[in-house]
Amino acid sequence: MLRQPGSPLEIESLELEGPRDEEVLVRLVATGICHTDIDFCDDWDGPPVVLGHEGAGVVERVGKSVKSVERGEPVVLSYQSCGRCRQCRDGHPAGCERFFEANFGFKRLDGSNALHRSGVRGHFFGQSSFATHTLATERNLVKVSRGLPLELLAPLGCGLQTGAGTVMNSLGVPKGASMAVFGTGAVGLAAVMAARSVGANPIIGVDLNSRRLQLALELGATHAIDNGQEEVVSRITEITGSGVDYVLEITGDPRMYQAAIQVVNPQGTIALIANPGGPGSLPGGRKLLGVIQGDAVPQRFIPKLIALFQAGQFPFDRLVKFYDFREINQAMADAKHGDTIKPVLRISSAQGNGNKLYFH
Ligand SMILES: [Zn+2]
Ligand SMILES: [Zn+2]
Repeated sequence: MLRQPGSPLEIESLELEGPRDEEVLVRLVATGICHTDIDFCDDWDGPPVVLGHEGAGVVERVGKSVKSVERGEPVVLSYQSCGRCRQCRDGHPAGCERFFEANFGFKRLDGSNALHRSGVRGHFFGQSSFATHTLATERNLVKVSRGLPLELLAPLGCGLQTGAGTVMNSLGVPKGASMAVFGTGAVGLAAVMAARSVGANPIIGVDLNSRRLQLALELGATHAIDNGQEEVVSRITEITGSGVDYVLEITGDPRMYQAAIQVVNPQGTIALIANPGGPGSLPGGRKLLGVIQGDAVPQRFIPKLIALFQAGQFPFDRLVKFYDFREINQAMADAKHGDTIKPVLRISSAQGNGNKLYFH
């Protein structure tokens, strides 16, 4: 639970409602920590909340109208959507008209909150996965095979999906295209792996952290630029002879956005994944794309990423460091300082821990 902005998260016992007809109670096995969680910890100025939005776990109980999953099945949780608006019906739930409410409203779309008896708010990204149990729906859970390492799959639900989905869905980067990735954290490294798997070349990683740049090179970047040491625009021009076809801007730094405008080729596209880096006009032909969750439909895209992982083409296990659930504040600090690219908290074993649930 987050009670005060900037204070450590606290682990407490809370009372969660049982699943409604369209809901699924999930016992969490693990959860990734994403930068959005860290930003909320620093800035949230509302009632106490449960954060976490990269959960993986096992279905414990399903509501009456749930058809696609059963008790005991392993699932990965992703972002929430309404399922009814035009964007959702057209197969683009990341563009859901109620995306903000559904993911950042800390309540169900009907305004209710399953943790109300404890005076706490949940439903963050339709999950609040920094918990032993949560309620999800069929729209934000993805069934996965039983033989897979479930705890490792947790971060697929947001950060890795966003990076890879931007390359493969939002931009549809073709073979031979040139690409620069500004910011090689978990999202950027997922983009690098996806760019390599579609045959982009060159793939230029840009970061201030030399360890992350080294990892980018190992995972498929053809060049790395340390922008604390080197001038990004002139280095990219030197590497490519002109500019790049695609820039993924993940730093949120307005100066990097300006650099992106300078290096993107005519007909090229800048994908803004962090908060847009301020206003600025784009010279003729260049496109700017605001990206949410890599325009991925989790039920299709996460299995695709798992298949790539199994084929050795999306080795995201290299990004992950595991922590015990009780080490949550250490894991958050390590992610904030860039020491850990993708922390994953171990919450319970995939086989279950014998904890009893009480339903009222
Ligand atoms: Zn996230
Ligand atoms: Zn919708």
